[in-house]
Amino acid sequence: MEKKTPRPIVSAVMDDSSSVKVLIVNEEGQYLSGTATHWEFTEERCRARVFDYAQDHVADQLQLVRNAYRTVWIAVKLDPHEAYEFCDRCGARMTATYAWFSGKFFLCPGCRTQ
Ligand SMILES: [Zn+2]
Repeated sequence: MEKKTPRPIVSAVMDDSSSVKVLIVNEEGQYLSGTATHWEFTEERCRARVFDYAQDHVADQLQLVRNAYRTVWIAVKLDPHEAYEFCDRCGARMTATYAWFSGKFFLCPGCRTQ
C-alpha cells in the first residue's frame, strides 16, 4: 500500500526556519490549552498553549486530528511581540512580571503554587 506524505496544513509557517512558536486553534476559534494529559480549549488567547512548530511536530498532530476526528485545527503563528516568557511546566505565556524563576525553570503563577 502506498503511503502518502501528509500535506502541510499551514504552509505559511512551514517556510520559516527552526523555532516557530504557534498556537493551535479549533473550528470554533478557541485555543488549545492545558497539558498533555488534560487538553482543553479556551477562549482566552493568553491561556493558549504555545507549541514549537517543529519540535512539537505540530503539522503531524494536526494531520492526526484531522484523520481521527474529521475536524480541522490550524496552527497560528505567534507574533514575536506577544511572546514574553514561557512557563517551563505548562507552556503558558506570561509577562516577565509574572514569570517566576525557580533557579532551574521559569514558572507561571499557576504552576508556582502547585
Ligand atoms: Zn505554568
